Amino acid sequence: MKEIILIKDGELALKGLNRSTFEDVLIKNIRRSISGLGDFKYYKSQSTITVEPVRDNVRLDEAADRISRVFGIAAFSRAAAVSKDIDEILATAPEYLADQLSEASTFKVEAKRSDKTFPLNSPQICERVGEAILNAFGHLSVDVHKPDIAVSVEIRDNYAYIRGNQLRGAGGMPTGTSGRAALLISGGIDSPVAGYMMAKRGLELVGIHFASPPYTSQRSEEKVHSLLSKVARYSGKIALLTVPFTEIQEAIRDNCPEEYFTLVMRRFMMRISEKIAQKQGCAALITGESVAQVASQTLPALVCTDAAVNMPVFRPVIGMDKNEIIIISRQIDTFDISIQPFEDCCTVFTPKHPRTRPKLGDVEAAEAVLDIEALTDRAVEGAVLKLIEAE
Ligand code: ATP
Ligand code: MG
Repeated sequence: MKEIILIKDGELALKGLNRSTFEDVLIKNIRRSISGLGDFKYYKSQSTITVEPVRDNVRLDEAADRISRVFGIAAFSRAAAVSKDIDEILATAPEYLADQLSEASTFKVEAKRSDKTFPLNSPQICERVGEAILNAFGHLSVDVHKPDIAVSVEIRDNYAYIRGNQLRGAGGMPTGTSGRAALLISGGIDSPVAGYMMAKRGLELVGIHFASPPYTSQRSEEKVHSLLSKVARYSGKIALLTVPFTEIQEAIRDNCPEEYFTLVMRRFMMRISEKIAQKQGCAALITGESVAQVASQTLPALVCTDAAVNMPVFRPVIGMDKNEIIIISRQIDTFDISIQPFEDCCTVFTPKHPRTRPKLGDVEAAEAVLDIEALTDRAVEGAVLKLIEAE
């Protein structure tokens, strides 16, 4: 018996004429995510994508696990693909679904026949398969409204597919169908979650990380690599630019009033990120800021940060509590990495009494002593590119 994976695309269904293009991107993303696990063929029809192993050497468990993280998928399931012969279907259904059926109390059978030359019609298929399942699992009863398991039999062109309940997919839109955006990634809890959330809406991510050696260590850069490799399990591989930030931080420390250190620094981060983002073909910036979480994230502080750039800044966790952000970070497996205690450039030279209600004019005056353009350009030119693959 051959086993395949059936994939139902999600919101794609809403996209009318673009649908086919979206599905093609989705197939490309699925193909990429399971590359290295064996040879597969891909078909699409009626909002279902079929992933079929070409040879026996495929790693289907791992493939299903990876597919569960590909955005643009509403639901998916493994299915048995057998020849279009009713006796074979009747023999396979109870056996293939034995694990699920033995744990269920109720079931129903749904049948669909896209090959109308098949000798039984859909109600007849349901009846025969239902009977075979009841014979094998006497404890079951039929419930057509809320069954524990819905057995589905589909007669397609080449095979009959038999499957049980579908699993929930990762949802969202296929990565890349919404364009590109640059994620400002620290080693913290919030920014990887912010990146995950925007990738879920179809954005391809480019990472930007500011490092201030020797105040920040190689270990803290590696922490960012690990975080992005977790996010890349959903978004696909991520180009990361690591920006040298020491010169700027020292210049701020030596020349600006202490209470504006953080804000001046954040405005530099935004300017540098905007320039890198433009070079990388990104149309927006993404940060993990959340209103009032820290002094630099009060509303007046965010206004000053925003004013440094023209590009839109997406802050998907802006209205979330830390606990809500943590729930997602555990779900995507970044939490345990984020809480490793390595310093971030944001925790270097932090003022004792930061301004929580800054006025833009005062921040601009505080930074006016610096050669903003030259410092920004040097940092942009010094950025080092690294490709981060899914872990
Ligand atoms: P996080 O968990 O994302 O670190 P945080 O609550 O620690 O969030 P801050 O340190 O104030 O917040 O940073 C706010 C946002 O600025 C981060 O979410 C991230 O988008 C960006 N940021 C902070 N530090 C860096 C850095 N070293 N490199 C790139 N971006 C950064
Ligand atoms: Mg942080």
